[in-house]
Amino acid sequence: MAIRSDQGIVLRSYPFGEADRVVVLLSPNRGKMRTVAKGVRKTKSRFGGRLEPFTHIDVVVYEGRELDTVTQVSVIDPFSHLRLDLERVLAAGTMVEAVDAVAQEAESSHRLFLLLHRGLKALDQGGGGQDLVTAFLLKLAGVVGVEPSFTRCAACGTPDGLERFSFSGGGAMCRNCRNEGAVRLRPGLTGYLASLATADLAFMPTTDPALSGEAMGVARRFVEFHLDRRLASLAVLDG
Ligand SMILES: [Zn+2]
Repeated sequence: MAIRSDQGIVLRSYPFGEADRVVVLLSPNRGKMRTVAKGVRKTKSRFGGRLEPFTHIDVVVYEGRELDTVTQVSVIDPFSHLRLDLERVLAAGTMVEAVDAVAQEAESSHRLFLLLHRGLKALDQGGGGQDLVTAFLLKLAGVVGVEPSFTRCAACGTPDGLERFSFSGGGAMCRNCRNEGAVRLRPGLTGYLASLATADLAFMPTTDPALSGEAMGVARRFVEFHLDRRLASLAVLDG
């Protein structure tokens, strides 16, 4: 059997057999990786809490026919500060869930990995709030190739007269191109979304409470439309 070392961020884990768990990681080199951690459901597991969601780890695995088995784990970054605050835990949960929905197995995913790492780091350093998650989701859409257009018409490219937003059409629409189902957005919201889409997650612009909630709604609907999947933890965050 071959032994391999890799790194990744734990997305989630689930019970496997009597005492084991399957740990799902996002690796920059291999995309989504499913690995078996043996004996972790026993109280004296040698892995301790190192395989908790959001933890950035180095792993050594035995390659198996179907699943690799974890033999060593060391923590690169536990992101322990974000775990102290429920709102930030929920935000991190949304980030890993969205990443889990788009990551492919056996496919390198450097941009996706870096985005998730930046998102968790921002939360760990005290960032939070809806805007950070909104910015994360808009960037995620860009990484998977469906970047929404906010400053130009998604159909013809004009920067003028952007009065509607089309989820199916990929972003803002001018009055000539707007399609059925394109919605009118509150004044200023398109510009607000554009600023979040290009924001540095570590230095978020000042939040506007009048636009923040709707911006999150647009980003969520956009990502869900293009991923065709409802993100469960977003419903919690919204409530
Ligand atoms: Zn147009």
